[in-house]
Amino acid sequence: MDPDANHRHKPSLAVIGTGIAGLSAAYLLKEKFRVTVFESQKRAGMGAHSVDYVSNGITRKIDIPLRIFCRGYYENLLALYDHIGVEIVTSDHSGIFSDETDRVMLHYGNVHWGPAHFSHPKGRSWLSPKAWAIGLQSRRFFTRAKRDMGQLNLADLSFGEYLQQSGAGRDFVETVLLPMMSVTCTCDYQAVRAYPADIMLEYLTCGVREIGIMSAAKGVDDIVPRMLVEANLRTDCPVALIEPHGQQLRVVTKDGADERFDHVVIAAQAQQAAAMISGFDERRALLDRIPFEASSMSVHTDQTILPAPAQGLSPVSYHIPQGSSRAEVSVDLTKAIARLAGQETIFQTWNPMRRIAPNRELARVDFTRPTVTRDSRKAVNALRESQDQAGNRLWLCGSYMAEKIPLLEAAVDSSVAVAEQLGAAIPWKASAATAA
Ligand SMILES: Cc1cc2nc3c(=O)[nH]c(=O)nc-3n(C[C@H](O)[C@H](O)[C@H](O)COP(=O)(O)OP(=O)(O)OC[C@H]3O[C@@H](n4cnc5c(N)ncnc54)[C@H](O)[C@@H]3O)c2cc1C
Repeated sequence: MDPDANHRHKPSLAVIGTGIAGLSAAYLLKEKFRVTVFESQKRAGMGAHSVDYVSNGITRKIDIPLRIFCRGYYENLLALYDHIGVEIVTSDHSGIFSDETDRVMLHYGNVHWGPAHFSHPKGRSWLSPKAWAIGLQSRRFFTRAKRDMGQLNLADLSFGEYLQQSGAGRDFVETVLLPMMSVTCTCDYQAVRAYPADIMLEYLTCGVREIGIMSAAKGVDDIVPRMLVEANLRTDCPVALIEPHGQQLRVVTKDGADERFDHVVIAAQAQQAAAMISGFDERRALLDRIPFEASSMSVHTDQTILPAPAQGLSPVSYHIPQGSSRAEVSVDLTKAIARLAGQETIFQTWNPMRRIAPNRELARVDFTRPTVTRDSRKAVNALRESQDQAGNRLWLCGSYMAEKIPLLEAAVDSSVAVAEQLGAAIPWKASAATAA
């Protein structure tokens, strides 16, 4: 018997987009469907912006953005990485916070002692009353947030309203909390304040403060091929239109090629998905309600981006000019990524507000990213319900489709949901059920 016959008789399925949502959908659906994957970029989307960096005669790949995660919040991502054999490492993300005059307001480090993890002031912050006040306010905030998680109906409050009601200390909120969450969510402080309070607090109380941060040891190039096994990948192939065609869906690419599929999973961002569907007016109107923000990231070797006393001290440096709408954040990759240790210092700066010397810049990339509001959450719930209808053939996944901050976990969570709706077994859930 022809070993490919079984595969040929499977229903066909197109995945549009190869961020982590599309990659994980393609991986989870490969047993049940013949999967074709479309990506508008020249390389699979998760690694589309990576650049080569030469230091000491050795070329290394730098992923843009650097994707970090932690236990406690990234349940599906960690299970997926474990299942496909991606090695993970812990990474130092202690930080320094400076104002518009480059004055250091706070500098802290982390200590791990067995499973315990402590943050402590570093350098001159030991002597700074403001740094100690921030430490105290931070402790109070997290104690109260953990208590409120189980007791208040946080979904009715925005995060901004929660901060006000809970009396969170102003120095902590303005110097640490909002800058940190503006980079975590890559959006303005205003959008951070507009998040539903429960979504923000679920992240903040998951242990991210105590248990430290991790990343994939070998970067995106080690992840993408593990998820694209068996898929037919078409890069440089933007999809222009998806519309019903009898019992199937018609997918038309920008170059005019036209194909039919039994099912289509759109794993692009909401505004990108809305632009490619025709004949799904209700869903398009719901997708239009998902807000997104634009920002850029520079990869460079310009050390002047750090406040002078802090140069070389800490992996993460927050620059917070008064009156700005979001922070500028630089990560020293040689301190945050073990495989780059000892190389010439190289930074990723999100939202560069200051000049970076052009001859020191390796790449600058523009991104968009969804944010969450109480209204967008209602729209996402209605989108999920629309996928539950019998006979549905158009599926949506992506970081905006989960009731979480749109991070890697939300994207994988949304693919797991679609794969389950399409009847696929989720390998790590199956092994958990067997173990039980
Ligand atoms: C600067 C920055 C830093 C971040 N850092 C972290 C981090 O440290 N940790 C973390 O957990 N998350 C991080 N995130 C968030 C994380 O990157 C996203 O949650 C994740 O990329 C979402 O994956 P996705 O697959 O839903 O969407 P995307 O990654 O946006 O993928 C969508 C894909 O669809 C493709 N596409 C779009 N339109 C079409 C079309 N018409 N035809 C074909 N293909 C199309 C796009 O090219 C893209 O490859 C960061 C985000 C940014 C912007």
